[in-house]
Amino acid sequence: MSCDNTRDKNVLTKERIAVIGYGSQGHAHALNLLDSGLNLVVGLRPDSPHRPDALSAGLVVEDIPQAVSKSNVVIILVPDEVQPSLFAKQIKPNLKPNTYLGFAHGLAVHFKKIEIPPQTNVFLVAPRGPGRLIRRLYEQKTGFACSIAVACDESGATWDIANGYASAIGAIPGAIYRTTFAEECQADLFGEQAVLCGGLVELIRAGYETLTDAGFSPEMAYFECLHEVKLIADLLCEKGIAGMRASISTTARFGGLTRGSRIIGEEVRNAMKSVLEEIQTGRFANELLSDPKETETRIADLQKTEAHHPIEEVGARIRKAIQGGS
Ligand code: NAD
Ligand code: MG
Repeated sequence: MSCDNTRDKNVLTKERIAVIGYGSQGHAHALNLLDSGLNLVVGLRPDSPHRPDALSAGLVVEDIPQAVSKSNVVIILVPDEVQPSLFAKQIKPNLKPNTYLGFAHGLAVHFKKIEIPPQTNVFLVAPRGPGRLIRRLYEQKTGFACSIAVACDESGATWDIANGYASAIGAIPGAIYRTTFAEECQADLFGEQAVLCGGLVELIRAGYETLTDAGFSPEMAYFECLHEVKLIADLLCEKGIAGMRASISTTARFGGLTRGSRIIGEEVRNAMKSVLEEIQTGRFANELLSDPKETETRIADLQKTEAHHPIEEVGARIRKAIQGGS
């Protein structure tokens, strides 16, 4: 990834932008674009529960077909699994020629789950953070890192639009990184599956179970294996791995350095390679998208099982005590 040096912040002032969806990313993009003084509408379903929020924030809300047909920049911020059908039914038939079509994640485009009409410019703006953080960092004027990419550049100006859009939602100019849809999509899926939302959670639960099975109290196991993750994660983000090591005790440093690679050894690395292969061959995307109803049911079942794990009960009690100050 290279840093993007394009610097035309006014590139969007002549455009009418349609933000489709008002969830985690959608509300943050819309509010930040509004505060950046740009001309935008939010495209929502007639029965969307977000209409009152968007209207009371001073945004213009339209039905999706109308928002798309009257705009020259359209950014799709509905869930990835909803994008194929929504795009085919309500977005594609209403796209004007030469529209700039944007995404915050490359999945639908990279795995060809949507059919891009000719004479359409396609770009990616993937902020490094969930929507609430993106909004907060904009309000604090600190900004955030962001990846941008271009898949179709009919006009020759799509990189400028992507960069201008990233700047307008609050990305730090020196932290806008050029990538491709393929790289962003595959790396993002891998990161969330292998490390952030998959591997880390299993590591925490395995540590918790190892301690409680050996007779340690649930409270002690929770503090050691979950609660303190944040302390180390903050150090890692602020100082890197070497910097984190420098900030902990000699005992923790020696223990981590000598035992860590026994926990994450060859078996885990091979499993990571196979997870990456499933992503790259499109198997994961097919599993996610081929039957949205079945995906929803599987997620609900897995979450139901997960909610019954003992770490949830002790965690809820401890968080209440800490956050409630009692
Ligand atoms: P979300 O689930 O928070 O919100 C999606 C919104 O889409 C809903 O609030 C609603 O307004 C609308 N919507 C839902 N179902 C719909 C339907 N059937 N028809 C029409 N509209 C519907 O989604 P999100 O997390 O903001 O994700 C949007 C995009 O941003 C995805 O491509 C995602 O990969 C990407 N992204 C998300 C994050 C994140 O942290 N959440 C970070 C970077 C990129
Ligand atoms: Mg992701």
